[in-house]
Amino acid sequence: MERVIIVRYSEIHLKGNNRGYFEKVFVANMEKSLKGVKHEIRKQSGRYIVENFDDYNVDLIIERLNKVFGIHTLSVAYRVNSDMDEIFYAAQKVCKESGTFKVETHRADKKFPLNSMQISAAIGGRLLAKNPNISVNVHNPQFTVSLDLRENGKTLVFGDYLKGPGGMPVSTAGKGLLLLSGGIDSPVAGHMIAKRGMSLECLHFHSYPYTNMQAKEKVVDLAKVLSGYTGGTKLNVVSVTHIQEEIHKKCNGEFMVTLLRRFMMRIAEIVAKNNGLQCIITGESLGQVASQTVEGMTSSNSVIKDLPVLRPLCGFDKNEIIERSRAMGAYEISILPYEDCCTVFLPKHPVIKPKMKDVLEEESKLNVEELINEAMASLEEIII
Ligand code: ATP
Ligand code: MG
Repeated sequence: MERVIIVRYSEIHLKGNNRGYFEKVFVANMEKSLKGVKHEIRKQSGRYIVENFDDYNVDLIIERLNKVFGIHTLSVAYRVNSDMDEIFYAAQKVCKESGTFKVETHRADKKFPLNSMQISAAIGGRLLAKNPNISVNVHNPQFTVSLDLRENGKTLVFGDYLKGPGGMPVSTAGKGLLLLSGGIDSPVAGHMIAKRGMSLECLHFHSYPYTNMQAKEKVVDLAKVLSGYTGGTKLNVVSVTHIQEEIHKKCNGEFMVTLLRRFMMRIAEIVAKNNGLQCIITGESLGQVASQTVEGMTSSNSVIKDLPVLRPLCGFDKNEIIERSRAMGAYEISILPYEDCCTVFLPKHPVIKPKMKDVLEEESKLNVEELINEAMASLEEIII
């Protein structure tokens, strides 16, 4: 008797002619996530079987696979010879100690002497005889014992269907640049977009020495969390210290955030183009803070020449975002108290609905091109 893991995939099924491509990427992503852990992955009638691993690694493998987008459900199964005694022995192992249950049998091996109804009845009967605390309920059972008799003379015996992360395999939907701050929102935005199959690079702006090195470490840690889902990422880090000093010195302070955002977007577009990335992703959520109004977005969007800006959190409430942040494993890092560059030189009353005419007038006091070139010269690339 050996343990295997059954991996069922979700939307990949839908991809008609491209299916081969999606599956290839999907398997490569699973292999990457299990790197360093002994295993083999095999395709078997529309799903994958992870096998030949050491039993003590089951939980680790499940934990890793839970970050591979495209996986719909997972089951830890016992694989035995298709022999009623062996099947029963494994069925006992997956059977719960009490509650209502049913046995569900799928018989691909049409040569097996009993049909699926007879197999379910026989195994169910033997389980009942062994344990007085369980009873059968075929319509609404509390748990199911599943038997899958394969053509190769082996049977998979399993209980729960564990929910996988869903989504599409990363790197089947292009590449994007995530503007990653140290906050709660942007990692969640990246996670959502990666879930739809996009691979990510990250871009972080700091204002060292106004912000400290711990703030940067925090962002590295957040990028690591994301890279658990994307199979690696690159973190681009750019200093906006001088830009902020210049805005502070020469412009109406109320426009600090509005103007800084425009610089961020310009730099983001350059970094994206230099790295062959196809869009910019931010963690903005409509109305969450003063700068996240439609007017603020109009102002920051208008400096972008031709890349789409994706804002997946626009329609989410903060508590929904926090829930997702916890679920993806970023929350505890995001709430560490280090300062973000946006909080440096923050005005008491930031302009909430900036008018383009005023934004352009304030910006005309700055040498935009020179400041951008200077910021680009500070670019540092960290491979995660
Ligand atoms: P977050 O929780 O992601 O920091 P926030 O609620 O603090 O978001 P803002 O500070 O207005 O909101 O930032 C909006 C978005 O702009 C962020 O989600 C992020 O995508 C981008 N951004 C803000 N600050 C930075 C930064 N220092 N580096 C990179 N991107 C940033
Ligand atoms: Mg922030």
